Amino acid sequence: MAPKVHVIVGAGQAGANAAVAMREAGFDGRIVLVGDEPHRPYERPPLSKTALTDDPEPEPSWFFAAEKFSALDIELRLGAAAKTLDAASRRLTLADGDVLGFDRLLLATGGRARPLPVPGGEHALLLRTLDDARRIRPRLQAGARVVCIGAGVIGLEIASSAHRRGCRVTVLEAAPSAMGRAMTSAMARWVERLHRERGVDLRFGAGVSAIEPDRVLCTDGGAVPADVVIAGIGIVRNTALAQAAGVEVDGGIVVDEFGRAGMPNIYAAGDVAAFWHPSLQRRLRLESWRHAQNHGIAVGRAMAGIAEQYDDVPWYWTDQHGVTIQVAGLPHDGVTTVLRGNETAASFSAFHLDAAGRVVAATGVNAAKDVRVAMTMIQKRLAPDPAKLADPATKLQTLAVG
Ligand SMILES: Cc1cc2nc3c(=O)[nH]c(=O)nc-3n(C[C@H](O)[C@H](O)[C@H](O)COP(=O)(O)OP(=O)(O)OC[C@H]3O[C@@H](n4cnc5c(N)ncnc54)[C@H](O)[C@@H]3O)c2cc1C
Repeated sequence: MAPKVHVIVGAGQAGANAAVAMREAGFDGRIVLVGDEPHRPYERPPLSKTALTDDPEPEPSWFFAAEKFSALDIELRLGAAAKTLDAASRRLTLADGDVLGFDRLLLATGGRARPLPVPGGEHALLLRTLDDARRIRPRLQAGARVVCIGAGVIGLEIASSAHRRGCRVTVLEAAPSAMGRAMTSAMARWVERLHRERGVDLRFGAGVSAIEPDRVLCTDGGAVPADVVIAGIGIVRNTALAQAAGVEVDGGIVVDEFGRAGMPNIYAAGDVAAFWHPSLQRRLRLESWRHAQNHGIAVGRAMAGIAEQYDDVPWYWTDQHGVTIQVAGLPHDGVTTVLRGNETAASFSAFHLDAAGRVVAATGVNAAKDVRVAMTMIQKRLAPDPAKLADPATKLQTLAVG
């Protein structure tokens, strides 16, 4: 009998980790990892951080050494875009015309940076890939006037990195505050203060109407002079291949808790997936390192026949102005917040509780240990005594049992 073939579309974090995980889980057929970027799988988080700030330009953070792919007999097809998928006959056609038959297919196509939908929007630089970062890096010259559009995680990390390079940085955000989807409003205020204290000019309610070669025009009629414009206004998930093949897409590729799409033998993982979360009892779409990693691994193992429910606690981190902020769980599920420590200190944490007093999320500022314990509390749905939670004299670990 011919060996089984598993094809993975998208050689990013989820795809690469799925490929390795399925081999390590015992799948002994052919594995083909197809990626449209020319590079072997690399980490994106450094792209808005050290790749912009450090001298000399750091080497990309590769997920795996090139030899690992050959050692595991994983075929890498780089610079190769998948163009059409025929799910019924299990055939994937690449841009060069090559056709790959498969037994199981993983869509790990992630997302691309959302382009700025205004006249002149093409003048705004975008950041998603290594090549994007290499385009932005030389533009961040000391004294340059840099305008970042969007005060989400990526926009603010770029602002922080540009500031570090000595640029004069303005952030324009149409919404009334920063980090809209990612943090509670109180924590977003804290982040806003951090940027302002460092000298970043943060402007809210600041819609952009057009980009001109040397300035950004705002919807209120104002203009902001700019040598460099960078937009960080979110991602567009790469769902077109799936959609054209009739795979269900609802903001992302819809999959169950094992990464299975509605069609037989089609799976999805990582940023592109809209996956069922068993504990939270809802469908989630996440854009974070931990999710791409763990979802990729879980779905890769499921494809190899070891199906375990993917039920991970959402988590991400961001580095801004030398501060590391971590967020676990879904902060907007909370109705009250218990502060542990002092907001003016170098390190503190905030626990977000639901109406029943259960910890549903936590935000840590230079407080990795607190966030780690919070993840256990979230997982176990614990409702610790708020007074003890707030008291730094109480060992957090003692509140995480139950
Ligand atoms: C600048 C930046 C900074 C970040 N910082 C953080 C951070 O500090 N903390 C954090 O938690 N997360 C961070 N993230 C998020 C994290 O990196 C992503 O969630 C993660 O990379 C998602 O991995 P993925 O494999 O699902 O998708 P992707 O990384 O998007 O990979 C998908 C790959 O598939 C390719 N592809 C798409 N369509 C096709 C096709 N038809 N054929 C072939 N290939 C295709 C894409 O080009 C891409 O290479 C950051 C992301 C960026 C961009």
